[in-house]
Amino acid sequence: MSILDKLEEISKEGQKEVSSASSLEGLEAARVSFLGKKGKITVILKSLGDLSLEDRPAIGKKANEVRRSIENTISKRKEELESKALEQKLEEEVIDITLPGRCFFTGKKHLITQIVDEITDTFIGLGYRVAEGPEVETEYYNFDALNTPADHPARSLMDTLYTQKDGVLLRTHTSPVQIRIMEKTLPPVYIIAPGKAYRRDVPDPSHSPMFHQVEGLAVDKNITFGDLKGTLEVFAKKMFGADRKIRLRPHFFPFTEPSAEVDVSCIMCDGKGCRVCSGVGWLEILGAGMVDPNVLSGVGYDPEEVSGFAFGMGVERIAMLKYGVNDIRLFFENDMRFLAQF
Ligand SMILES: [Zn+2]
Repeated sequence: MSILDKLEEISKEGQKEVSSASSLEGLEAARVSFLGKKGKITVILKSLGDLSLEDRPAIGKKANEVRRSIENTISKRKEELESKALEQKLEEEVIDITLPGRCFFTGKKHLITQIVDEITDTFIGLGYRVAEGPEVETEYYNFDALNTPADHPARSLMDTLYTQKDGVLLRTHTSPVQIRIMEKTLPPVYIIAPGKAYRRDVPDPSHSPMFHQVEGLAVDKNITFGDLKGTLEVFAKKMFGADRKIRLRPHFFPFTEPSAEVDVSCIMCDGKGCRVCSGVGWLEILGAGMVDPNVLSGVGYDPEEVSGFAFGMGVERIAMLKYGVNDIRLFFENDMRFLAQF
């Protein structure tokens, strides 16, 4: 058989194999067997150099014709097979309208931030302005200026996180902000100071070494304990509902005199007594009192001229009471299943 006859035979064979390929994989196998590196046509094209000079042009021409024609058939067959595969795919993949929709998560504020905003908004409405101060504080602002005696237990290494620098600590409450503001502001002063505070606590359901506080301070002429009570009443009703009552119990804080702990009537049982309020019908929400005259004179105010009240509350505690959360650690574990509820 001459090479030309052989090429003719390969051509027929190739056309047949390519046209009858029933899948893209089968088509590729046919392409490799004729046009691949060791394919039947490639082998002939490679051997052209061994032919005599007179045979070479005719055989080379024929071999190239066969190659091109098989290439054309392959690309036609490929299109056919691809559109068939697409049709089949469309037929099989019916849209199932009974499947549940996909869930898109929308970002929102952390519950603690929401509560801080709610508290500050309430007081901004009462004419207060927001003040902030450093979280790394000096012993002077955190304790001394707030009339805390040198031997007060709160100063101990058991309760306070000190830095390696002498007299520098992580503030244990947001109260230092009121000193910093009074030092550079003449009365009247009406501020609300939200922020983080730190204590040397091991995390448990009701303690966290980092927590949030909101401190409030009002200093003006003729401020009385009645003003304090009225202000807190407005706050409690706004935060916990219009039916809430508050009560003040005598307490002691170094920087206020007299001092009180403030309770709100239980939001679960409305004061009748339940498990949440341990049967007493009241829930403690904050500490407050009249600013101690020593604190006022310490910042250069005249306690004969002005008086004031201060209060401080734990934001996590307010959030826990408001939403019935029973473990403070939930706020900081950042489990979306918990946070997404608020
Ligand atoms: Zn109760």
